[in-house]
Amino acid sequence: MAGTSVSSPEKVGAAYACDQCGADLSRFIRTRSSHAGPAIGQEKRVCRCGHEYSTGRVEWDNLSTEQRHSILKRTLFGCLFFFGILAFAGALGRGVQGYGISIDKAAGGCIEGLLGGWAFSVVLWFLLYLNVRSSLRRTRRPGGN
Ligand SMILES: [Zn+2]
Repeated sequence: MAGTSVSSPEKVGAAYACDQCGADLSRFIRTRSSHAGPAIGQEKRVCRCGHEYSTGRVEWDNLSTEQRHSILKRTLFGCLFFFGILAFAGALGRGVQGYGISIDKAAGGCIEGLLGGWAFSVVLWFLLYLNVRSSLRRTRRPGGN
């Protein structure tokens, strides 16, 4: 693998193709979006023809402190967002009866929503944990480069 050039693949419509052999690389490549921050993942992929491509992802070890913070913030905001949405939906769904609102039931629905938000948060952080762990396995494997 040493000495080969790493390039960004050519974009063909919505897909990415190898410019050496034309293989479809879309599943390896992340479309860059500046506001969302970097995605954690394998940085390079080798095509079937041996050409190396940069995937647009970055391994956790190679992220700057600010980039790590932005990923943690993104996850946190995702959790808060779902807490808010689910609590609101729960309160509305339970509380609105005909043309009136039952505060007791709205409060109950709100709590159910928060529990749903909590479950969602656990899943979100667990996925991030798995992502970081597999990234660390790639970069810190014994005998790896
Ligand atoms: Zn190729």
